Amino acid sequence: MAINNDEVKRRLKVLLNDAHLVNEYVRQFGPLIEMKNIKALKENQTLDGSKPATSEEDPVFEVEARCPVCNKEEIIGYELYAKSQQILPNKFLVPTYLGAQRYFSVDYTLLAVTVCPSCLFASPDRKDFNRKTVVGVGDAKSQIPGNVLLALLEQTGERKALLENVTDYENHFSRPRFEDAAIDSYRLVMARARVELRYEQPYALFKLGAAALRIAKIMKDSHRDNLELLREALGILRMLSENPTAFRRDRDAGHLFGSSAFIKIRRSQKSQFIHRRLQQFPCGAPGRDAH
Ligand SMILES: [Zn+2]
Repeated sequence: MAINNDEVKRRLKVLLNDAHLVNEYVRQFGPLIEMKNIKALKENQTLDGSKPATSEEDPVFEVEARCPVCNKEEIIGYELYAKSQQILPNKFLVPTYLGAQRYFSVDYTLLAVTVCPSCLFASPDRKDFNRKTVVGVGDAKSQIPGNVLLALLEQTGERKALLENVTDYENHFSRPRFEDAAIDSYRLVMARARVELRYEQPYALFKLGAAALRIAKIMKDSHRDNLELLREALGILRMLSENPTAFRRDRDAGHLFGSSAFIKIRRSQKSQFIHRRLQQFPCGAPGRDAH
């Protein structure tokens, strides 16, 4: 029987009564709940009972934001402490994370997207949300223009339709965020980017491609067939290279894709390359280097 990750989180929260311990449990033991593991984790607590006695620290902290689409407040997003991870791009230029200094490793790709649990507006960019300024005085407004926000409000039903099997959005996207929820978060990012594309916003194509590549990576990491997503991501890369206007607009962001794939597509501008590239990366090919 398939594991219902949202149910796992609900049960762990009841059993452990501490968000940090829930994260720690999943980090150590995965999504299977066993009482001996619960006991081991609890016995490992420090005397004040607040944190497990691990020698490493959590590199992730929570930040609050307000939704620019539906005005929901106190939306939780996850950020990394500076220099807490060594960040290296994989062959698709999706970052991979390795704990640095006193911090443990976290696959931050799973947590990077902040999702409004009310209207499902989603973005990995904090500046897309309304939030407190860095100095904590006053509000900083979302960088997304008003007409796009209005279109995103009108499209709320379509975003909810993407997640038809999820009822408790808040729990679904809270930490620990499992692969299914992370994939959903990037599908919502893609839905947002498509609206931005319609309104000819800069970097919309780039955001679409970057989200597709992240879904492909998460699927590969969890041993799922990601061919469709690779096809979609490479199709977007092709659009970037074949559409001079889009390319100019997104050129500055291009270096983030800047893999040999992007450069070769740009040079050759031949769709044939896309197909060769796809054949080079069958789903789940373990650790083969693209270069
Ligand atoms: Zn919202």
